[in-house]
Amino acid sequence: MATLVSKRKKTTRRHGRPAPQLIFGDLWEYDPAPETADPKLKPRYDLFINGRFVTPKSGKYFDSINPATEQKLAEFALAGAADVDAAYRAARRAQRNVWGKLSGRERGKYLFRIARLLQDRAREFAVAETMDNGKPIKETRDFDVPMAAAHFFYHAGWADKLEYVAPGRKVAPLGVVGQVIPWNFPLLMLAWKIAPAIAMGNCVVIKPATNTPLTAVKLAEIFEDAGLPPGVVNIITGPGSTGGLIMAHPTAAKIAFTGSTDVGKIIMRSVAGTDKKMTMELGGKAANIVFDDAPLDQAVEGIVNGIFFNQGQVCCAGSRLLVHEPVAARFVAKLKTRLRTLRVGNPLDKNTDVGAIVSRDQLASIQHYLAIGVKEGAELWQPPCRLPAKGFFMPPTLFTGVTQSHRIAREEIFGPVLAIITFRTVDEAIEKANNTPYGLSAGVWTDKGSRILKMAAELKAGVVWANTFNKFDPASPFGGYKESGFGREGGRQGLLDYCQLV
Ligand code: NAP
Ligand code: MG
Repeated sequence: MATLVSKRKKTTRRHGRPAPQLIFGDLWEYDPAPETADPKLKPRYDLFINGRFVTPKSGKYFDSINPATEQKLAEFALAGAADVDAAYRAARRAQRNVWGKLSGRERGKYLFRIARLLQDRAREFAVAETMDNGKPIKETRDFDVPMAAAHFFYHAGWADKLEYVAPGRKVAPLGVVGQVIPWNFPLLMLAWKIAPAIAMGNCVVIKPATNTPLTAVKLAEIFEDAGLPPGVVNIITGPGSTGGLIMAHPTAAKIAFTGSTDVGKIIMRSVAGTDKKMTMELGGKAANIVFDDAPLDQAVEGIVNGIFFNQGQVCCAGSRLLVHEPVAARFVAKLKTRLRTLRVGNPLDKNTDVGAIVSRDQLASIQHYLAIGVKEGAELWQPPCRLPAKGFFMPPTLFTGVTQSHRIAREEIFGPVLAIITFRTVDEAIEKANNTPYGLSAGVWTDKGSRILKMAAELKAGVVWANTFNKFDPASPFGGYKESGFGREGGRQGLLDYCQLV
């Protein structure tokens, strides 16, 4: 339990006696409360192919660092074409000879086992994820790891009920699936990709991001412990070029990619003309829309949760705040008050709200956008906060005086930066929210149910949250419109993307 330490400032009263003066936001400071679970790191991790850890044919390795300390965590194998080939051969063998022949009921038992083993090692995984990615332990402990386990449980439940995925039709696996994922939810994205694919009877070749390979290889340890048949899931670490090899491989019947829109377009071009099925989960520039009748304090929490709690490194982050003019000044003042209380710092501390940015490059890219915003004439505001001397940190940042044409309002910054725009009417809010090439998510804050229904119907976004934000459930399909991609992950719709109808 953290101890609260009073930081009352002393001032002098009329009779010369000191009197405490309450300074809001600077009143209480917590003692450090670091998470102590052992992440059980090995110095070096190999490729997980055909149920075994094997050295890469290249003999090369790369480092992953802890962005909060800039220290090396471990070395990871750098896979090349021969390794990717070996992984696809193993996956095809497993799919044809073992996994594709098992009943759904039997496959489901493995998924249950994986989910339970992940729960058993939840604290270890949360610490490992926080160390590799920089996000606060309260996020990895309370969201990433439990939600990853929930995805395996959910799809374990589907495995023996696949006839209900497409009622009236028979479903069959596609074969081998190639998957590439980003660094912002390393473990959760593995679960989103692997669980539906293998529940349906497919086998997988998957690559995590270079910045965050740790929980992927740890999940491979769980696959070993669960006795998953060799070749069902093959985990390949390496750079973007390795991802390109996985996506373009002729054995892949389907490819599933989560990452930036730019890389998604490169991949789509590389597989154009093939008969591969494809799902793409790409970038976003979500609008969080606050009306004058909204519960403002609750909305402040939703905005903060939507853009600052994961350092804004969330595809569906509410990176644009559209606020109704009558309450704009009051709302921004409330938001600033709340941001003054956020704790930025050591992600392993249980009290930390805003952790480290994933890499030096990503921090530089965010800072570049701050300079662009200022140059474009928007007004930058950051709460006073002390950043750790080492590591890649930045304070939560607001931009006011933003217009639709500003780059900070149009482009995905992928950092804790909120662009604030005002509106006068419902139609103006809809038009401004939809005025983006992206369409992944949106949030609406209002007291009126009818307004929520109208907004949900008119907003071109895969998810519209009402009076809340960033809520997920494995049963609820997630995916984008427009340049945010196509295909859905989660729910019955997500399973449809991993099967053929026969
Ligand atoms: P990224 O640069 O597109 O990288 C994503 C993955 O693709 C990484 O594993 C990367 O490997 C790999 N990659 C890079 N170049 C490749 C190529 N030419 N061919 C195949 N794979 C390649 O994205 P990021 O910066 O890691 O992640 C942030 C982006 O992901 C944001 O745009 C965010 O919105 C999006 N995202 C979307 C969703 C969603 O569900 N819609 C969810 C999470 C994130 P390296 O790591 O080695 O570069
Ligand atoms: Mg790392």
